[in-house]
Amino acid sequence: MGTGRECSEKEWQKECSEKERSGIEAGVHNSETYEDALRQIARGLPLKAHDIERVLSPQTVEEEFSLFHAAHEARECHVGKAIHVRGIIEFSNYCRQDCLYCGLRRSNEALARYRMSPDQIVKAASTALKSHSFGTFVLQSGEDPGYSADAIVEVVRAIKRLGPAVTLSVGQRPFEDYELWREAGADRFLLKFETSDSILFRKLKPTTTLDERLQCLINLRSLGYQIGTGIILGLPGQTREMVIRDLEFMKELDPEMVSIGPFVPHPDTPLRAPASCTQPNPAGSIRAVLRTVALSRLMVPMAHVPATTALGVIGKGSREWVSLWRAYARARFGYYGPLPAPCEYIKPGHGESRFLPCTSSEEAGVGEGMHAGEQADTGEQTDTGTWEWAETGSRGTGFSRLGPVRHWNDPRGMALMCGANVIMPDVTPKIFRDSYEIYPGKASSDGEDLQAALNGVKAMIKGLGMSIASGRGDSPKPRFQIKENLPQKKGCLT
Ligand code: SF4
Repeated sequence: MGTGRECSEKEWQKECSEKERSGIEAGVHNSETYEDALRQIARGLPLKAHDIERVLSPQTVEEEFSLFHAAHEARECHVGKAIHVRGIIEFSNYCRQDCLYCGLRRSNEALARYRMSPDQIVKAASTALKSHSFGTFVLQSGEDPGYSADAIVEVVRAIKRLGPAVTLSVGQRPFEDYELWREAGADRFLLKFETSDSILFRKLKPTTTLDERLQCLINLRSLGYQIGTGIILGLPGQTREMVIRDLEFMKELDPEMVSIGPFVPHPDTPLRAPASCTQPNPAGSIRAVLRTVALSRLMVPMAHVPATTALGVIGKGSREWVSLWRAYARARFGYYGPLPAPCEYIKPGHGESRFLPCTSSEEAGVGEGMHAGEQADTGEQTDTGTWEWAETGSRGTGFSRLGPVRHWNDPRGMALMCGANVIMPDVTPKIFRDSYEIYPGKASSDGEDLQAALNGVKAMIKGLGMSIASGRGDSPKPRFQIKENLPQKKGCLT
């Protein structure tokens, strides 16, 4: 595999024929193989939708693993080896919007609403700092008009006095509010665009528009925030073409953070799953997310990419992905611990029906009242393909040592081996945490006390042979590197 650090520019030039190079330089290179397409993307060369599609759709397990491995190497190269652990405080579950997929939507009368006071938010941060020296707190809420801009200013200032950086994730607000918060010291802002398809966006988020949301991102960037954005993968009505366009848009935007989370149906929303199918096809969903995480790492290499909580939640519904994880660790990192026997893997391409179900937006036909499960039933059915694994992967690279398998219960760990480099334990006080239910199952995922949850996350990172980053974890882009050293860039290709 000629991607990542293994292949220097010299080697690349040797490998490429004159014809290939001239084609690439002219921006008309046609990828002929999976590795060719992968290399094209990893080098930041001109992309065609065809290449993205190809990389998103590996035909063999070797291809799939080569994507994961290239993303892992790109992560180490561009944003460093250590994992950033950020504390997230979900301080209000009130929301003025009415997104069809979200449990916080204003129409959901089944949800017990809460709103932490500024003092409670600051106290949650100082309590969390006693358990871990967080470099960043993420302050997240629904779009809650109950907080004035000044109330947020108060919170930002107080948390900044404690030392860590502050990421806000409070939705669409006027430019003046963003400006005030930036002046108060807010460093970053997370605002996922969810889908770049304006029609699907309007259907799923009927109380706002894509243009309004993108304008917010433009405003945030102009104010000097490190911006984070991303998509939900597997939204009913979302097509493969839309996901490809999302990724192309993300590359163009070049945000400082990229978040790819799976759609998890919430029972109290119009997009609830049918009663018989509360956790549909989690293994397929996990793999689709992992591939998209890996690809986004290659396309936006300098971004911080979280292993999302939602991924951890859907992982609880399946054990199949553990086989994939072990096989990947064995193939690429020389892990020779317990493996399933025989090695049973899901065939690449299997189980994608929920996530990339249609070939056109017409087929998708999403609308108010449509159930997520209805979409999935139109796709490919689950089978139990078996892969004979040929040990062709390189060994001993990337990880010095993999730890006990008991930490492999959470697909967020696998995301950290596929390009993600951030994990965000929930440090919201337990009395509120259970009610921040964007999707079901989230509360119990971090349901233990704070120290136990942190210990679990740290054990997982250690078990992967990785370390925890110290400091604020700013973007490695030079303009954001005021207080921290840049990660080592030697050997990077792009
Ligand atoms: S997705 Fe965000 S904006 Fe939409 S209802 Fe949920 S919390 Fe509100």
